[in-house]
Amino acid sequence: MTNHTVHTQFSGRLVFVGFGSIGRGVLPLILRHIGGLTSDRITIVTADEAGIGCAADFGVKYVVQPIKPDNYRAVLEPLLGPGDFLLNLSVDVSSIELVKFARERGALYLDTCIEPWAGGYVDTAVDPAARSNYAMRHAALQLRHDGADTASHPTAVLTHGANPGLVSHFLKQALLNIARDTGVEAGEPTSREDWANLAHKLGVKVVHVAERDTQVPSIPKKVGEFVNTWSVDGFISEGSQPAELGWGTHEKSLPPDGRTHNFGTGAAIYLMQPGAATKVRTWAPKAGHIHGFLITHSEAISISDYYTVRDGEQVVYRPTCHYSYHPSDSAVMSIHEFAGRNWRDQPEKRILLNEILPGGMDELGVLVAGHAKNAYWYGSQLSIDEARELAPYNNATSLQVTVAVLSGMVWAIENPQRGLVEPDEMDYKRNLEICLPYLGKVVGEYTDWNPLVDRARLFPEELDTSDPWQFKNVRV
Ligand code: NAD
Repeated sequence: MTNHTVHTQFSGRLVFVGFGSIGRGVLPLILRHIGGLTSDRITIVTADEAGIGCAADFGVKYVVQPIKPDNYRAVLEPLLGPGDFLLNLSVDVSSIELVKFARERGALYLDTCIEPWAGGYVDTAVDPAARSNYAMRHAALQLRHDGADTASHPTAVLTHGANPGLVSHFLKQALLNIARDTGVEAGEPTSREDWANLAHKLGVKVVHVAERDTQVPSIPKKVGEFVNTWSVDGFISEGSQPAELGWGTHEKSLPPDGRTHNFGTGAAIYLMQPGAATKVRTWAPKAGHIHGFLITHSEAISISDYYTVRDGEQVVYRPTCHYSYHPSDSAVMSIHEFAGRNWRDQPEKRILLNEILPGGMDELGVLVAGHAKNAYWYGSQLSIDEARELAPYNNATSLQVTVAVLSGMVWAIENPQRGLVEPDEMDYKRNLEICLPYLGKVVGEYTDWNPLVDRARLFPEELDTSDPWQFKNVRV
């Protein structure tokens, strides 16, 4: 018996593909909060033995078998049937193929990002546009048009970790809070159009996913080592993709290295350089103003797309949206070293879990700007110390992700026939209700900051002083 709230019941089998920092962190939460799912009905299929001790702690079957294009059916077919759940927390495994496979088997599905097969992120034989998240998201969403009656397919939740994922729910709460505080009638938005109209009515120009991780390792980063608070391989992959951002209607000019796509909704652009080499200004309550990396993320595209207002075919409103990520100081040094090695991986990699000193935190939220009260940050301030008290096998960064994986799974179990779903299309209240107990302090704070405030101009810069929230002012 536990004292933890059981959010739902599940009678099927669960298969993990991949069991790294996120898989190990979410397993204890799943066993706590999803009733009826006993450990004998869970199987882990992964590429290495690193998680074997954690699996043994919970009595879960562990199979070391890297999933590849030529073996995924043979390996996964015996493990998955109607009413089962495929949880994809791997790197190097095609999300699109697993979504299709889960659908064929009648199983539910969730992942935390849209991944290609190994090598797909850095294949220089293909155009940078094809290595973008815009292209991968577009290809995934095309599965909605693949076969009849797709809406009644088993639910497949795309990209539901902290970001992408939880931040989409933060954004909805933030918009309602801003409406309340600025005297705008918000009503009870339910449809995509309602939410987009609300953001438009509030005058929101920009949404930054603003994150500052201050966790510090007890063993310092060595030369030739990549240290991170979550997947090193995942960070290297996304940092090597082109920088990408949802491109708002208030933007006056495309960046000189900005490129548009000639397919899809046109909600986002990409820059002709990696995200790990692209810095942007942002603000969070504890961090103050910071430079973050503009790492490409699915939420930057899905949020700009979701909050688009159209008049017929004509786009009349869309916010700019991008990630601005200041990872832990060790990860900043790791990225710097990785770039200096001409984007070739360091020989050693380390994901921090037990060897983190007390006191650091992950501050992750949305900075929603351009409205009557300038800018509002809403999100989670979770310290490593709180994270350790709340759940085993987690640090502050992973817990923000793993609890969102849990809430996405609960929502999928409760809504089993929704077909392909992105975080913006889910019930934000249900997800927040499940996540809140694990997020430390959840705060909303207004700020007078904008990218022109207190800007020391050491060299002449071409700024747009008539609109602080132009991307040219935000970009470093
Ligand atoms: P990790 O690097 O710690 O673990 C990756 C896991 O994938 C390992 O268990 C590895 O054995 C497994 N793997 C590698 N190749 C495989 C293959 N061919 N077949 C099966 N398994 C394979 O990563 P993590 O920190 O646990 O992150 C997992 C995923 O979640 C990554 O894609 C990462 O980008 C994503 N992520 C998303 C968020 C978010 O907020 N949305 C946050 C953190 C991580």
